[in-house]
Amino acid sequence: MAIQVKNCMEDFVIDLVKQVIKSYPDICTCDQCINDIVTWSLNHLPARYVNTNIGDAYTRLDIYKQEHYTDIIKIVVQAVEVVSKNPHHTKKDKQE
Ligand SMILES: [Zn+2]
Repeated sequence: MAIQVKNCMEDFVIDLVKQVIKSYPDICTCDQCINDIVTWSLNHLPARYVNTNIGDAYTRLDIYKQEHYTDIIKIVVQAVEVVSKNPHHTKKDKQE
């Protein structure tokens, strides 16, 4: 039995976070903070599972519709702000 399901929201959010943080040159972008931003975003967004056996599953996802895209960006921007204000490490520990 092969289970081939995947939460597409995860890849989608990871790509978006990489883009959004470019607009925030002052925030910490260490692995810990980036992972915190992705985690926060995913916890505030619905999961979007697809059966990876189906070839066109990705393109049929509603996350690629403009109105959903805008909502997801808002959550990611919020996540960047929340995490950058409350990093899980002190400034001294900041990894460059
Ligand atoms: Zn950091």
